[in-house]
Amino acid sequence: MFRIGDFEQFDKEYAYDGDDLGVCYRDGKTVFKAWSPMATGVYLNLYLDGEGANLIETVPMEKMFRGVWMIELMYHAEDIYYTFSYEFDNRTRIETIDLYARACGINGQRGYLIDLKKLDPEGWDTVPRPVCESPCDAVVYECHIRDFSIDESSGIPAGERGRFKAFTREGTRYRSTKTCLAHLKELGVTHVQLLPVFDYATVDESKPFKAQYNWGYDPLNYNCLEGSYSTDAFDPRSRIKEFKQLVMELHKNGIGVIMDVVYNHTYYTEKSAFQKSFPYYYHRLNKDGSFSNGSGCGNETASDHLMYRRFMINSLKFWAKEYKLDGFRFDLMALHDIETVNIIRDELNKFDPQLLMYGEGWTGGESPLPADKLAYKWNSYKFGRIGLFNDNIRDAIKGGTFNPYDIGYVSGNRNASHVLKRGLVGSVPHWQLHTAQEACWAFEPTQAVNYVEAHDNHTLWDKLSICAKHFSREERVKMDKLAAALFILAQGMPFIHLGQDFLRSKPRIPEEGEPENEVTTVNHNSYNAPDSTNSVKWNEKYENYHVFEYYRALIRLRRNNKLFRMRTKDEIGRQMRFLDTHDDNFIVFCLEDSEDCLVCLFNPYNEERRFWLPEGKFYTRLNELGKLNKFPLSGEVVVPPISAMVFKRIRRREDNV
Ligand code: CA
Repeated sequence: MFRIGDFEQFDKEYAYDGDDLGVCYRDGKTVFKAWSPMATGVYLNLYLDGEGANLIETVPMEKMFRGVWMIELMYHAEDIYYTFSYEFDNRTRIETIDLYARACGINGQRGYLIDLKKLDPEGWDTVPRPVCESPCDAVVYECHIRDFSIDESSGIPAGERGRFKAFTREGTRYRSTKTCLAHLKELGVTHVQLLPVFDYATVDESKPFKAQYNWGYDPLNYNCLEGSYSTDAFDPRSRIKEFKQLVMELHKNGIGVIMDVVYNHTYYTEKSAFQKSFPYYYHRLNKDGSFSNGSGCGNETASDHLMYRRFMINSLKFWAKEYKLDGFRFDLMALHDIETVNIIRDELNKFDPQLLMYGEGWTGGESPLPADKLAYKWNSYKFGRIGLFNDNIRDAIKGGTFNPYDIGYVSGNRNASHVLKRGLVGSVPHWQLHTAQEACWAFEPTQAVNYVEAHDNHTLWDKLSICAKHFSREERVKMDKLAAALFILAQGMPFIHLGQDFLRSKPRIPEEGEPENEVTTVNHNSYNAPDSTNSVKWNEKYENYHVFEYYRALIRLRRNNKLFRMRTKDEIGRQMRFLDTHDDNFIVFCLEDSEDCLVCLFNPYNEERRFWLPEGKFYTRLNELGKLNKFPLSGEVVVPPISAMVFKRIRRREDNV
């Protein structure tokens, strides 16, 4: 089999810059295009169904220029399934789904011909996207489609649990507490970030009632939706219709939808549509010709090869336009080269500059591409318009992620405050901070995605149950709330994991022979664990309602006060300053502009702390219970053990009332 030596030279000769690869309808015709410069033949196969022996016909495609193969059907073909067969060296034909397919049959084996516009729900064109002027205005909530509603406590009708449809149900409850969509509205988040909803490989869509689970980081078809989230995976239209309904329903309620995209690897490597249609082009290779494994999942894709870069751009534009999505979260973004992520930002800006774009600034293994070319967090200044998950603030607050016993600021680490303070200012330079340079990585605060819990690793509550096990439950709840106050009130963009706001846990049953302890009874890598581990149990919201109320109060506080949402490092330098407490770990900062002054105090100690407020009259904007109290205060205030307090200066005109 041929191998390409110099990809740059090859791309100069063969890369195709049309945006019509795959299928498009033109002048009543159906046009198929596939790109494969080294193929000796490409064939279109038409089928009656998404699987099984029901071939209608196979037709040879014609070689055009720059490696593009084409065939036109003289009619508007719909409700037909198709694949391409590639032939190299005039020998075996290898059949695969079109990697550009936008609809597919059961388990993503064949593409499906349909005009997607016909599947728009009623009112689709009249519901606008929610406005989001800056990433700092967003409060993102990360949800897995199945986890969100699969448990009976969700109040969702049985047939819709674990599916897209559950997001469109209004007014669901567990006892007196709101669940699902009603919960999202009540919590006050601005965006929902969905774990992969594109078609992934490891859940058998033909068995909807079998207990199967995966996060979805096993990409099969990048431009198709996952079938197991629809009410009928055998009908290619149902997943499209139902996902559009999900987006529309959330938009109606002012909530944006962010898609988790996993362009960094393919699940099947050799058997992926990329490899079958043009072997050894779309993946990066080691010097010995083997697949490199920067993802830790067996391979990594080659964003630096033009046709893979264009594939990504084309795909992202498709999702943003066709499904009106509001942003993208890039899995293992550091595997993409910096040039590519900057071009993507430019291209998305042309469509809508408000689209959010952020990702993981790390890889899952070593890439053969030089580290200075990749979108690693340490290269952050080279792609300053794209957000990055802030592992510095995460670990400073709750302790190292990979040692469950490691403690953080909230659980008693008295050496975490320097890194934490850097996180509080949005991970940008600040005139009062001279340490923790390693945590000073953001070009602007808009780049810092602040969080303490995501789908990966232990939930915050489980982490606290391990590293702070000698504390009482009541004290651990205080630590959880203090952690929330820190990352939600930090400059940047806060990111919350579904259920984090009511002490979500991921319980695990120890295996035979394993001791039963605080580590073996929780799951820190639940990517394919059963619902008993992964599902959100909405009764926990009922039971821990006061924690939920506290998170909600923090989100309101942030959204109602623009001083928590400063756009630039200059503003932060002018309007945010730390006040002296004579104690590194008793953190107090003041946010002040011409209108408002907010003083935020964080006490990680198990005893109260006292502090003299600056000049003027204040009221309690947020106490340890998340409540507001308008009673005027000045002088010395008390911060209860393991808690945060926020005081707001009473405006002059309010003084006169
Ligand atoms: Ca699938």
